[in-house]
Amino acid sequence: MTRVLQSQDLLTSVPGIGPTTFFKFQKHGIERVIDLLRIFPTRYEDYRVTTPAQQTRPGERVTVKGIISDVSMIITKRRGFTMTKARLYDDSGSVELVWFNQPFIKKNIHEDVVYSVSGTCDFFAKKKVVRVSEMEEFSPTLLHTGRIVPYYSQTYGVTQKLLRSKIKFILETLGKNAFSEYLPADIVQKERLTSPYEFFTAVHLPLDPKDYEKAHYRIAYEELLSNCLTQQRIRDKVNKTKSDAINLLTTADCEQFLKNLSFTLTHAQERSINEISHDLAQGHPMNRLLLGDVGSGKTVVMAYALLQAYRSQKQSVVLVPTDTLAQQHFATLSTLLQPFGIKISLLSGTKNEGIETANVIVSTHAILYKKKLSSSIGLIIIDEQHKFGVDQRNRLIDLASAGVAPHTLFVSATPIPRSLALTIFGSLDISYIDELPPGRNPVKTIVVSENKRPNAYTWINALITDKHVQMYVVCPLIDESTNEKTAEKKSVTEELVHLQQIFPHLKIAAIHSREKNKQVIFQDFRQGKYDVLVSTTVIEVGTDVKNACIMFIENADRFGLAQLHQLRGRVGRSSTQSYCLLFSSTPTEKSIERLKALETTSDGFKLAEIDLQQRGSGDVFGLEQHGFSMYIEAYLFDVALLTRIKETARELLAKDESFNYNSLVTGKVSRTERTDINLN
Ligand code: ADP
Ligand code: MG
Repeated sequence: MTRVLQSQDLLTSVPGIGPTTFFKFQKHGIERVIDLLRIFPTRYEDYRVTTPAQQTRPGERVTVKGIISDVSMIITKRRGFTMTKARLYDDSGSVELVWFNQPFIKKNIHEDVVYSVSGTCDFFAKKKVVRVSEMEEFSPTLLHTGRIVPYYSQTYGVTQKLLRSKIKFILETLGKNAFSEYLPADIVQKERLTSPYEFFTAVHLPLDPKDYEKAHYRIAYEELLSNCLTQQRIRDKVNKTKSDAINLLTTADCEQFLKNLSFTLTHAQERSINEISHDLAQGHPMNRLLLGDVGSGKTVVMAYALLQAYRSQKQSVVLVPTDTLAQQHFATLSTLLQPFGIKISLLSGTKNEGIETANVIVSTHAILYKKKLSSSIGLIIIDEQHKFGVDQRNRLIDLASAGVAPHTLFVSATPIPRSLALTIFGSLDISYIDELPPGRNPVKTIVVSENKRPNAYTWINALITDKHVQMYVVCPLIDESTNEKTAEKKSVTEELVHLQQIFPHLKIAAIHSREKNKQVIFQDFRQGKYDVLVSTTVIEVGTDVKNACIMFIENADRFGLAQLHQLRGRVGRSSTQSYCLLFSSTPTEKSIERLKALETTSDGFKLAEIDLQQRGSGDVFGLEQHGFSMYIEAYLFDVALLTRIKETARELLAKDESFNYNSLVTGKVSRTERTDINLN
């Protein structure tokens, strides 16, 4: 008697999968029956309606059914591709079929067989044709035509057809009882999740788009739940970890701090300061993200926390990604904190003075190479936190945990939509600075067409000469491109020469990541020794030169809106009107329209949302990097769902600390051990 197929069987148990095919799959870790079911289609074509041949209309997806004859093959002279032509006859008449580059088709067509053919009706050489994408012998149970047909982006060296038919065989053979539910019944019911068997059937053999939509919902739900469980575990762990409480500032200190500022705090800054102070006063570590657009004033908020730590006899570390930013923070924080007697020192590749006795250490990556840090580090601030890898951030936290766990504040200017932040930064508490200081002149942003470029140069020339303002010019590349793909991208080195010709009387410098003297050049620019600084996006991070009022961006279409917004944030730092000019190398209507969003919007969070909707989150925020699939994209804006899942994760872990499941659907385990501070 033959044994019934089981989901954990090796794929060789499936008829038609011999050693050769098995090996192709095995190379990609696809070994068992269940693994094959977890190759999900990335798109579907709806070929459900069968149309009489005579009534096919160009532009439509069609299925036709009939007898095929008059097969001929043409090899075109140019590039030598092959085209196969044939006619399909049914009761209504006939229609021409075409195939491109499938020279073996002719051999496989038999004149006495009824075929079902799906494809797109089109005009070709002024004639109506059906470009065939799928074809099979007609039967009552069609798999590749006449239905919703799944397409797999990766087929591991076998054909779409083979994959479809093996999956169909497996599902029919395993039967409804092959899988049992592994999520708690109340969740399944409340969220109306499809059962695992229904899930696999719906995703591979859908009869209606609703089927695979429900299946995708289950994938998304499971991924989000698994993510929330991990994050809740981190939260639980942090809450159980002990830290020294950092006391609130005395009223006198607080008043003094505010009095020393040359401005009044915005409400958002006040709110963030309160949230941070409250966290610091707890006996467990703060684990908070301070999120605010460029120029929203995050530095004073940091300074306030540093003062608080100092008053509680704690040393603090401020980690920043670049030397420039380290120097800038050193200068700003010194102004804000020295009146309180705080000793600040700078640690970088080249500077290393008095860090043992400092109250606040402002450091670049250099600190990560230290073997040991003082045991009284109470607060870590990681500015532009996304510029650091998980390992680097964890390394610093580990180093500082030698005594008792430090409080940690992550700081970022990446304007990430709030709903997405819930998912990506779920283990952190978030403070938003969602308001710019008053009296800022919004940067006037203009998308400039190429024929207006000379006018732009004339205008800039006048502005720089009359008002003595400075300008940044951003190019995507460092050197001239030798690659065809990037040929139209401008480079810093070429643009420097070009601009020196256009503005012979202006002083122009260039910096990029490979420039050894960038520190010096940048300092000189800050001091006004140059009028124009040509740069790659290295200036994106934290640079603050008040007199720089023009931002000139080449190949702007090559950057995301959120990134352009960040670059734009480098100007508009004083009361002088600032300008951002955007040039596009491929001025398609769509790319211009996208860039125009920058003309009207100065809200970074909103621009991020447009980016997310237009380019897909994977592209923009590296969701894949965060371990998510494309299926969650549809739910990223569903704050109600995200909040519900978060709550569910909390409840599940409150009931059972080691709650765990093996997902049939995603193939992943909701892991218990991954409780390190793993942010993004
Ligand atoms: P970012 O959030 O980009 O780090 P910064 O902290 O560098 O922003 O602040 C940008 C500029 O705004 C600085 O020159 C700072 O002095 C100024 N600033 C900060 N807060 C306020 C405020 N409430 N009112 C006016 N200016 C402010
Ligand atoms: Mg900053």
